[in-house]
Amino acid sequence: MQQALIQNAAIKKLIESYKTIWSLNHVSALAFWDMNTYMPLEGAKGRGEALGKIALLTQQAFLDKSFIDLLSAAKSQHSLNEYEQAVIRLLQRSLKFYQALPPDFIEEFVRVTSEAHFSWKAAKEQSNFSLFEPHLQKIVELTRKKASYLGYKEHPYDALLDEYEEELTTKEVEQYFSELKEPLIALLKKIRSSRNYKEEHALENLDYNVENMKRLTNQLLATLHYNMDHLRVDVAPHPFSTTIGVGDTRITTRYEGKDFARSYSSTIHEYGHALYDLQTHEDLYYTPISGGSSLIIHESQSRFWENFIGKSLEFIHALYPELVQMQPELKNYTPEQIHHYFNIVKPSLIRTEADEVTYHLHVLIRFEIEKALIDNKVEVKDLPALWNKKYKEYLGITPPNDSEGILQDVHWSQGSIGYFPTYSLGTALSAIWKSHLEKELGPISALVSSKAGLKQIQDWLKEHIHQYGSTHTFGDLLRKKSSEPFSSKYLLDYLTDKYTTIYSL
Ligand code: MG
Repeated sequence: MQQALIQNAAIKKLIESYKTIWSLNHVSALAFWDMNTYMPLEGAKGRGEALGKIALLTQQAFLDKSFIDLLSAAKSQHSLNEYEQAVIRLLQRSLKFYQALPPDFIEEFVRVTSEAHFSWKAAKEQSNFSLFEPHLQKIVELTRKKASYLGYKEHPYDALLDEYEEELTTKEVEQYFSELKEPLIALLKKIRSSRNYKEEHALENLDYNVENMKRLTNQLLATLHYNMDHLRVDVAPHPFSTTIGVGDTRITTRYEGKDFARSYSSTIHEYGHALYDLQTHEDLYYTPISGGSSLIIHESQSRFWENFIGKSLEFIHALYPELVQMQPELKNYTPEQIHHYFNIVKPSLIRTEADEVTYHLHVLIRFEIEKALIDNKVEVKDLPALWNKKYKEYLGITPPNDSEGILQDVHWSQGSIGYFPTYSLGTALSAIWKSHLEKELGPISALVSSKAGLKQIQDWLKEHIHQYGSTHTFGDLLRKKSSEPFSSKYLLDYLTDKYTTIYSL
């Protein structure tokens, strides 16, 4: 029999005590999922109150003297293995967070963001920024306060980045984008001047039957996955995934009735997130290191499935009969033409629907705006104008309204400032995993047409990434595989190769 991953008695005791916090996280995750899927609009206030109180209980549980004593006892242990050390590292990280933030601040932050979520929704629906503005103003004030409570070495934005990605700094993100920006803009320029460039693909305007598309979602998940008993799919306007507990991971997707690539990509993207949590080693269940806490690693998994598998010609070939069943008009299109539709590159307004090339420019715009907000260099009321100016500058387009501009993403309404860079860095990491996987298993394109090949990919990801949950920071996990430092090089090489072929550059 294999030895259990967690052996040390002091660590086991600590994890037993942590179960109270685990349970609070469990019900919060369920309440959050419900809030973003089925809760009636008027439930916002009550849910905000409840989640605020649960956040306080979580803080109390962390600050409880007996819990802190158990953590100190665990810390003084010698020769802990990597999992046991990671349990301490992550609990200390949370403890530091809860020690830094006053209880009334935590409660206010949760209450304000729960309510802001619904004002954002209304503002987006009516394309009226002024409905959201006072809420965002409050969120920005609270976020600046949060940065000063948490502390930072160089830039207040460092404190915010670190909340989503352990140890990530503003400087590193600036460095990353400074290497990516110019080559990306140059590639985009080349694509736009190619003979194959199209402003629009006919399939973007093709209506689909939502019930048929739901069937396709289920077929897609059945093709990709091995056990649907621990995974469910629901509908949300802004798709997300969440793990509620052991054997209960949930994803969401959307059905607009048009341009089916949006729904398809959302499903497979969120599936990539879900698989990461689902393939954690079972000895880590109920511990703080179960599932992924690094957003960069998480996004490297969702983007991996979305881009390298979902948008590959070979996978589209394999799925072609189901695609035609979903939308009979697709029989007039070859898999190659559908592949082109999935991979069309053009400047567009919505980040989540952006192609693989322009995607990073959307994230860069957010990063620059967030930094300016935290630095007090821009006021909330001036954000729509600043947003539109940057879209014109980087992408050459101007949003016709705020709904498709500044109001498009849910994150700020949830108080998530400092989150966006992980989307781009995670995508760059996915390209690094791809190169390692292909060195060992051969090209992904040769694996995606069969269940056995897909299983090989899942197993590789499990072995090198998923099984560890949050045991390693993203830098440490990468160092297990290679001594090369993280960079955008693999992403740029992959994008250049792929689009040189598609657009005959
Ligand atoms: Mg994602």
